[in-house]
Amino acid sequence: NNFSDYDLSDELLKAIQLLNYNYPTKVQEQVIPAVLAQKDIIVKSQTGSGKTAAFAIPICELIDWEQNKPQALVLTPTRELAVQVREEMFHLGRFKRLKVAAIYGQYPFYVQEKEIKQKTHVVVGTPGRLIDHIKRGTLDTSYIKYLVIDEADEMLNMGFIEQIETIISTLHQERVTLLLSATMPQDITVLCGKIMNNAIQVEV
Ligand code: AMP
Repeated sequence: NNFSDYDLSDELLKAIQLLNYNYPTKVQEQVIPAVLAQKDIIVKSQTGSGKTAAFAIPICELIDWEQNKPQALVLTPTRELAVQVREEMFHLGRFKRLKVAAIYGQYPFYVQEKEIKQKTHVVVGTPGRLIDHIKRGTLDTSYIKYLVIDEADEMLNMGFIEQIETIISTLHQERVTLLLSATMPQDITVLCGKIMNNAIQVEV
């Protein structure tokens, strides 16, 4: 397989080439076409599999640059992962001039508030601080079409499941939901049942 086999714009293909991603990884082969077709998907895969680009490529492709509100929300268990995902989405979205903000705790609230306001297309962050922004009205989630829950098992271990459900309760029913996890404990399966519709399951 080749990245040009997928229904991707020149902007995305150029960005992928610049990153020296020559061929899609196994997880990318399965996830990219499914997300482009707007399917919900549960992905069991490890770090190092190329899982970030697997969701970032199709989401960057589907984002409408003209829309002035965040359209994609990526939930991560840690600040480090949020920054990593922000970097990868920034590089993949560069030729579409996509704006990606990383939002996490122990960082000035008003700086993040200003950043979100500047035509941000994608918000990546940790649950606690995201809830603060939603509650204070500085993050409008009503235009979110793509939701990603990354490292779901880590989220569970850190006690974030309730906060994830709180965030999801503010989102549109009509959205695409992706969940990625290295392991699939029962709590994750139960969560998936609540928040997804006819999800495809992928294991790599
Ligand atoms: P991840 O599993 O998302 O943590 O990705 C692991 C590493 O693989 C990251 O450093 C990516 O930049 C890299 N990567 C992702 N997709 C590809 C690809 N198709 N070809 C080569 N490297 C990739």
